[in-house]
Amino acid sequence: MRASLRKAHVSGAERLIDVSCLKEVLEEMIRRALASYAPPDEIHISADAVLPDSITCIRSLDVKTRTSSTMDEAHRIAKEILGANGISSVAVENALRLLRSGPTPEGTNMRGAMIIDALTGERMEPDIRRGVRVSRIDYTEEARILLKNRLNELGIYHERVMDALAIASKVIHRNETVAELCWSDSPDYTTGYVASKGSGYVRLSSIKEEGSLRGGRAFFVDVKDLHLGSYIHYLERQPVIIDRIGDISEPLA
Ligand code: AMP
Repeated sequence: MRASLRKAHVSGAERLIDVSCLKEVLEEMIRRALASYAPPDEIHISADAVLPDSITCIRSLDVKTRTSSTMDEAHRIAKEILGANGISSVAVENALRLLRSGPTPEGTNMRGAMIIDALTGERMEPDIRRGVRVSRIDYTEEARILLKNRLNELGIYHERVMDALAIASKVIHRNETVAELCWSDSPDYTTGYVASKGSGYVRLSSIKEEGSLRGGRAFFVDVKDLHLGSYIHYLERQPVIIDRIGDISEPLA
């Protein structure tokens, strides 16, 4: 599902489900579109079949939380984690600047993600207004319930965490991805994250200013063995199911 207002993206969601749940999930998608921070004037919902044999099963990334009281502090932690993963400072600064200002040439949000060369900081996605949208990703029912219960126990449950952890786990599973940086475009959700194989999924509070309508995703890639077409095909088309949940740590104050 993707919803927009005056052509600007306001909300989206992706699921990979058994056909028996289709009606229920479509209703849920409409509910989510209508609950966007801005009432959309266009909603697109599409459903297509995938072959069960083509599905890859993966484990979700471990989840940690780093609490900050200011945006500068959250950005400092993001830079520290991204730097430790070998991403150059020029690439990190470029991604932070684009997420702060709006990643399209018009300074608006995209409905997909940027792909950024982890060394040069150059953008690589074919359409810099649309970005690349990760799709065909979900949890098994058991994994979804387990994750929801665990996040609830730790007081960090949010629908957005469930969605974002699924996206990040799929993106990081692919070898060419070095790390991901994300924060929401929703004005009242200020927790973002950095994800990588080494660090897991690290939630970062106060990563953007309350009230800001700007957000997005940056996938940092190692271009050495990258075939951009097959990388994008994996993100958009390869069906991936999370059937095991990684460790989830208690947020530290
Ligand atoms: P959200 O976390 O849903 O607020 O999304 C924040 C931003 O991430 C959006 O503005 C999009 O640019 C991007 N985004 C959202 N969903 C996806 C997705 N499935 N694949 C790639 N990028 C996405």
